[in-house]
Parts: sequence; C-alpha cells; structure tokens
Amino acid sequence: MKPIAFDYFDPATLAEALSILRECGDEAKAIAGGQSLVPMMNFRLVRPTALIDLNRLASLDFIVEHQCAVAIGALTRQHIVETSAIVRARVPLLAEALPFVAHMALRRRGTVGGSVAHADPAAEIPTVLVALGATVIAQGPNGTRAIPADKFFVSYFSTALKSDELLTELRIPTVPPGTGSAFLEVSRRKGSLALVSVAAEITLSPEGICERAALALGGVGSTPFAAVEEAQLLVGQAPNLRAFQEVGQRVAARISPDSDLHGSAQYRKDAAAALVDRALQASAARASAASRSMESPK
Ligand SMILES: Cc1cc2nc3c(=O)[nH]c(=O)nc-3n(C[C@H](O)[C@H](O)[C@H](O)COP(=O)(O)OP(=O)(O)OC[C@H]3O[C@@H](n4cnc5c(N)ncnc54)[C@H](O)[C@@H]3O)c2cc1C
Repeated sequence: MKPIAFDYFDPATLAEALSILRECGDEAKAIAGGQSLVPMMNFRLVRPTALIDLNRLASLDFIVEHQCAVAIGALTRQHIVETSAIVRARVPLLAEALPFVAHMALRRRGTVGGSVAHADPAAEIPTVLVALGATVIAQGPNGTRAIPADKFFVSYFSTALKSDELLTELRIPTVPPGTGSAFLEVSRRKGSLALVSVAAEITLSPEGICERAALALGGVGSTPFAAVEEAQLLVGQAPNLRAFQEVGQRVAARISPDSDLHGSAQYRKDAAAALVDRALQASAARASAASRSMESPK
C-alpha cells in the first residue's frame, strides 16, 4: 500500500521545526530515520497529513561525555551510537544492546530518538534507558523538559511527549567503577523484536559486595518493566547464584506479559526468569573483573 497524501517540510533549525509542528497541529509527525514511520504510513496504520523531516537538524546529532552522564542527540544514528568509543566505555550496556536492534542497514538509518519516540515495548533502547534511570529531553514551545525514562513510556507506542514537542536528547548515567552489565534477549530470528529482553547492571564494592543493581525487561508489558524492588534484593550481599535465581523468579511472578502468535504469556515469564538469572550472573562476573583490573598494579 501507499501512504495518504501529505505535506512535506524540511526545516533547517530546531526552532523552525517546532514552529511548523505547532502550526500543523496533531496531524503532523516528525520523521527521523523513517524505519518505523514509513512502513506504518504505507500500511496506513498512521495517517499524518504533514511530515516534518528532522534530517537537516545537525544540532540533534551528537554524543557528548559529561562528568556523570553521556548526552546523545535524538538524531544520532543507532549504528553511530553502537560504535562510539564514548558509549562503549561509559554506557557499555547500551553498546551491548544496540546490535540486537533490527539489522545493520536499519541501524545505519534509524535514530536513537526515533526508537525512543516510537516506544515499542519490545524495543531495546527504551529498556536500557529504563534500567539505567536515563532522562529524555523534550523541547516544545514553552522550552525544555527533562522526563525520567520510567515516566516517559506511557503505554504501547505511547509516550509523555506532547504533540507540539520534539525529543531532542537522551541523558544516560555513566557506569561507576567496579560495574559490570549485560543485555540478553530471546527473539524468533536475529534482528526481530524481542519476545523478552533483559538489561542488567551490577556495581561491586572493593570488598566484592553488591552496592548497586539495575534491572529492566522489554517485551513483557505495555512499557519497559523496571524491576527496581527485585534488583534491590541483591544490594548488600556478595553476588550468588541463589539470589540471582530468586530475583528471576520474583520478576517472573510480577510481570504480566501478553500472549501472541510468537509466544504465550507463560513462555515469556519462563524466559524472563531464565534471562534475568543469566544477565545478573554475567553482570556480576564482569563487575568482578572490573574491580580486579582497578586493583592490579599498572
Ligand atoms: C524489519 C524491522 C525490524 C526492526 N527490528 C527492531 C528491533 O529488533 N528492535 C527495535 O528496537 N526496533 C526495531 N525496528 C525499528 C527500528 O529500530 C527503527 O529504526 C526505530 O524504531 C525508529 O527510528 P527512526 O529514526 O527510523 O524513526 P522514524 O521511523 O522516523 O520515527 C518513528 C516514530 O518516532 C517519531 N519521532 C522520530 N524522531 C522523533 C523526535 N526527535 N521527536 C519526536 N518524535 C520523533 C516519529 O514521528 C514516529 O512516530 C525494526 C524495524 C523494522 C522495519
């Protein structure tokens, strides 16, 4: 199928893009990489009467390292983020998750902002943002808003972004010393959306005690699931297999995934329990290696 007729705008500045968005009203949509929007328009699942092309907005294409966070512009291509030395060193969980997003050709065009604004509950980038307590920056006619990732995702394909706002930036906390992370998922085929995904991170003290644990799951509900209370069970104890299994079981008991033709709700719960256990084991092993490399003499 083909999309309905639409007007096309390609603003040169963010101010111009916001002004066109305001003038066109609810029927307008931003287009970034087009990897989700164009198929949805072709199937007429969405019918925007105006498209505002963000691709000339070079000011939204950046990766900048701050003291405790990495800031990534909304228009930064997923492949650029995946291969960024800054992201690999300072937000390794995101770098590990990105190869699971679709295929290389899509990631060369698809943007991080597009994935987050699209808000597919099985998408990898939103799950990582929720796990790490990231912040989504939105800009609209009244200025800039900072929205915590766990408040940004509202439901299936629905976010806290207002119709006259654009997503401009992601701010992701960087890893403290002694941290290990892991991203795992089950999908029908490589490049397909996750049936279940798990993003985990553990920080160990120099004595090997868990000081911090972060955990989120994708594909198990209408938004990424932040397993905050389950992760907290690990804090204060040395990493151990029994605790990881218990966290996996508790997460599985609390999530309410859907059944569909790709997998039943029970399958997703079982997969979640196993993936949480494995992701925590991998994170703890990496955290332990990171702690040892800090101790070893230069
Ligand atoms: C075959 C296939 C497999 C895929 N597999 C996966 C997968 O495994 N995991 C995964 O996460 N994704 C997957 N995707 C989706 C892909 O990652 C898209 O690249 C991504 O979801 C959208 O990024 P985009 O830049 O192309 O956004 P677009 O398609 O341009 O836009 C998507 C939505 O976001 C809005 N938008 C875009 N940018 C902004 C902004 N700055 N401010 C406000 N709104 C904005 C648009 O209006 C639109 O509603 C797949 C897609 C396809 C076609």
